Amino acid sequence: MPASVETTLRGPEAYSLSRQVIDEMERAGVWPTPLNFELWLHYLGDPEGALGREIRRILAAAEPFTEATADMLAAEYLPRGRLTEEIRDAGRVLDRELASVSSAIAQAHRSQAAYGQTLDKAADRIGAVEDGEALQTIVTGLTAATRRVQRENETLEKKLDVSTREVARLREHLEQVRRDAMTDALTNLANRKAFDEHLATACEEARTSGRPMILAVLDIDYFKRFNDTWGHQTGDQVLRYVASVMGRAARTPRVAARYGGEEFAMIFPNETPEQVETALEAIRKEIASRSLRRRSTNDELGAVTISAGFAVRRPDESGAALLERADAALYASKRAGRNRVTSAESLDRAA
Ligand code: GH3
Ligand code: MG
Ligand code: MG
Repeated sequence: MPASVETTLRGPEAYSLSRQVIDEMERAGVWPTPLNFELWLHYLGDPEGALGREIRRILAAAEPFTEATADMLAAEYLPRGRLTEEIRDAGRVLDRELASVSSAIAQAHRSQAAYGQTLDKAADRIGAVEDGEALQTIVTGLTAATRRVQRENETLEKKLDVSTREVARLREHLEQVRRDAMTDALTNLANRKAFDEHLATACEEARTSGRPMILAVLDIDYFKRFNDTWGHQTGDQVLRYVASVMGRAARTPRVAARYGGEEFAMIFPNETPEQVETALEAIRKEIASRSLRRRSTNDELGAVTISAGFAVRRPDESGAALLERADAALYASKRAGRNRVTSAESLDRAA
């Protein structure tokens, strides 16, 4: 939580802010679920912040505030309490492992030094030795000292082994946490945050390599009507279905992302406009050809369709500018009757 909200919640304004949150949620027709409450708390705690702007946009567009919407907002805008906690835990485990390893190493150093002294002393005494019994005592002493050092080394090795495994486990876990933070929970595609990063990387790679890069945006047609008719749960089922078709078409280095409620984006590094158009057409046709059934009631839902637009990155063009042109091409697909794919370049030629 940002310091301001966190502080407010422990100060004199705490209850009035909470009441205000409930009132605002009721006004917006949003259920007071714990997650929604948290979202609204941050929204009212910082109305001009990114989260506030996005919530206002959703309300203004009269988009329904579904659980998926809340999850997406939380993933994107809420300070990841869980994430920071996991990272703090990871830090603690690392600290502990490192402390244990370094104390084992320090102990091994001390033993080695003591062993060295034992050897030195033994060498002196062997020089002065006159009878076999004295020699026997010295050798027995040396053997014991050697065993001690061996044991110390074994302990050190075991500790290193345990620590190595613990650190590897930790790394895997953090990798999972990182993946979760970049994945859209509903569709398992890359989320908006991951998409922004992929887009920036792809633009940068295209700039340095001089290779082409194409960005496509896809949007489900008349999805609001679909939701209104069949409910949001069925709508979510359709989102998952559409995402799965796109996901299958998006083998690396292609990237598919859910970048808004029912809006998707695909990045095609190093492919020609013809290849991209073929891929998008295949996606469009596959989605349009499948008659869907509602899982809960087995109702026949008919097919949904998608519209798409794509644009070829111009030299030195930023991701934002490219996205804007791909969006314009999508809009042209919508205007021309939907269920089609349009390229920004074909718009340029027509103009
Ligand atoms: P168009 O063909 O012009 O794209 O029409 P549309 O109705 O699809 O477009 P519009 O942008 O007006 O509506 C988008 C709808 O998408 C609004 C909302 O009902 C739905 N939607 C957005 N996010 C979600 C979600 O996470 N789950 C569900 N079920 N529906 C969502
Ligand atoms: Mg839309
Ligand atoms: Mg739509």
